[in-house]
Amino acid sequence: MNTRHVPMTRLRHLILLLTLLACIATLANGLYAAYRVQKAALLETALENNRAYAAKMASSIGTQLQAAQQQLAYSATQLGQHFGDPQTLVAEARRLDLQDAGFNAITVVAADGTVLVSTPDAPQVDGSGRSPAIDEALRARAPLISAPFNAVSGRLVVFISQPVLGATDQYLGLVGGAIYMRKDNLLHGLIGHHFHQDAYVYLIDASRLLLYHPQPERVGQRVGASAVDDAVLAGGSGTLAYVNSKGVEMLSGYASVPGTGWGVVSQQPRKATLAALDGLVHQVLMAAMPMALLGFAVLWWVAQLIARPLRLLAGSARQMGEPGSPEHLAAVSAWYFEAAHIKQALLTGIGLVQEKLGRLNHAAQTDPLTGLLNRRAMEDALVAIEAGARNLAVVALDIDHFKQVNDRFGHDAGDRALKVVAAVMRACSRDRDLPCRVGGEEFLLLLPGTTLAEAAEVGERLRQSVEDARTEGVGQVTISLGVADWVPGGRSLEATFKQADEMMYRAKRQGRNQVVVESAER
Ligand code: GH3
Ligand code: MG
Ligand code: MG
Repeated sequence: MNTRHVPMTRLRHLILLLTLLACIATLANGLYAAYRVQKAALLETALENNRAYAAKMASSIGTQLQAAQQQLAYSATQLGQHFGDPQTLVAEARRLDLQDAGFNAITVVAADGTVLVSTPDAPQVDGSGRSPAIDEALRARAPLISAPFNAVSGRLVVFISQPVLGATDQYLGLVGGAIYMRKDNLLHGLIGHHFHQDAYVYLIDASRLLLYHPQPERVGQRVGASAVDDAVLAGGSGTLAYVNSKGVEMLSGYASVPGTGWGVVSQQPRKATLAALDGLVHQVLMAAMPMALLGFAVLWWVAQLIARPLRLLAGSARQMGEPGSPEHLAAVSAWYFEAAHIKQALLTGIGLVQEKLGRLNHAAQTDPLTGLLNRRAMEDALVAIEAGARNLAVVALDIDHFKQVNDRFGHDAGDRALKVVAAVMRACSRDRDLPCRVGGEEFLLLLPGTTLAEAAEVGERLRQSVEDARTEGVGQVTISLGVADWVPGGRSLEATFKQADEMMYRAKRQGRNQVVVESAER
């Protein structure tokens, strides 16, 4: 067989590869599914957290502003009773300023615009007159939360005011509190800290002015249009995943502040939110690694177990003609169905091959007419005998006047006579003896381990038996025999055979149907 054309991929490797592929595919699929589920959950949670946070902030800011208005309203009733008394006005303004309402400054203004009281830092006194917020409140004569405005001092201010009414509900003026957006105020306290590192909150007014932002320098800036700002300024609350002006994907929650037109946005970058997930996948892979390695070792072992019987069976099959191969094959442990079947088939095959070989051998070694050993078989046997330490007696025999048998009764009758002689030879032989047909009607009987005297007796028995036997269509035939012997270390086998022949011819000459034994004195 030309091994160069045998594919070198091994079953063991194929099994291993297949199983590994299946494992990896399963693991990857599982990981991917878990990743997707986790990712969706994370994104949803982030969005919802931001929405909830923004909603809470918006409602807190709304509540605080309302509380501030109520405080101002209470002060307004107090001031209405004593509007003409400057001392009461100052005392009430101080009280308001000191109270924990979150105002940075308090102002009391008369209906004609005269500033009656102004706590330090009040924004309306900046040398250029009153702020537009005060004018607006005076015109409105109603509770008001002003739009944020930049005071001349550079501050960003929200002004909250309540009208002051007299005993007969006549309009006397207003009391107002200013909240400085860049300074610590009630909003900062509320918004300042967020639940998540990457998340941040900002507050805008209806004109997209930043009222609060974690980066203080951005407070007071007007932001460009963005999807989330549009959503929050439209009112209500919700979530939105969008790409901001810097191209960053954001997960946002938003809520509008009741009664103001402002909006709170809480958001975080999508990437930062998912960063933890990548770490998680890595962790899962690492945690799975020891079991995966163990699994690989087990796979390797199982693949070996599966491939081994086939490899051994193939090896045995290659040596089918050799003597030990059935035993070799039988020893292979074929522990699974297919291997067991191959083994059975090979055993059957080997049986057939050996039987056939045996038949061929037999055919090559026996004479087809008589079934005795042929000359070649005899020569093979002699090689063993010559190498051994035993002596050998040789009986040469020849049918008397066989030509006449053929002539008188026909060739087939002659053949029958040959068979009868062969049968007699076999009958007179022991197991170890070798009856051979070496020529047409010439036979040899080899008697290993037999003395000349014993061989002479065998010869005589043969002669008598042939004489007594009858061949169908022929009747009686007789034989002449010559006996000689060989001992190890003596003359050659060839010389012994020649001598046996010589003795047989002497028997012919002396009248046939007799045995002549080589004389002992040689
Ligand atoms: P002798 O007593 O001197 O041996 O006389 P013989 O006629 O037997 O002479 P010989 O041994 O020389 O004869 C051999 C004859 O045996 C020649 C041939 O016709 C015959 N013969 C040889 N082989 C066969 C065979 O296979 N079948 C038959 N029927 N006859 C054979
Ligand atoms: Mg002859
Ligand atoms: Mg003859």
